[in-house]
Amino acid sequence: MIVHYGYKDGSGEYFISVDTDKCNGCGDCVEACPANVLEMTTMMIDLEDKLVAAVTEEHRNKIKYSCAPCKPEETPPCVSACKQAAITHTWKPQ
Ligand code: SF4
Ligand code: SF4
Repeated sequence: MIVHYGYKDGSGEYFISVDTDKCNGCGDCVEACPANVLEMTTMMIDLEDKLVAAVTEEHRNKIKYSCAPCKPEETPPCVSACKQAAITHTWKPQ
């Protein structure tokens, strides 16, 4: 299951997406994020509790601003840190 955190509005598209099937709960992305945007959380996946990466409640509605320090990079630290290719970043200002 791919969980999208973020939004699309008149100014563009801003999402962090986590593939909960690929995520192994290692926490490397959380450690790599310079802005404390990510956390580990427990989700019910296929009827079992699983530890996966997520965007904190606080940052979900302001990804455009929270992730701004990473904006110029094609591959932000969270994406680089993930050996499972489970996290992606969509940044499309218009
Ligand atoms: S680095 Fe990848 S596998 Fe590890 S917690 Fe983050 S998204 Fe999941
Ligand atoms: S894009 Fe940057 S600020 Fe946003 S979650 Fe990833 S590492 Fe953190």
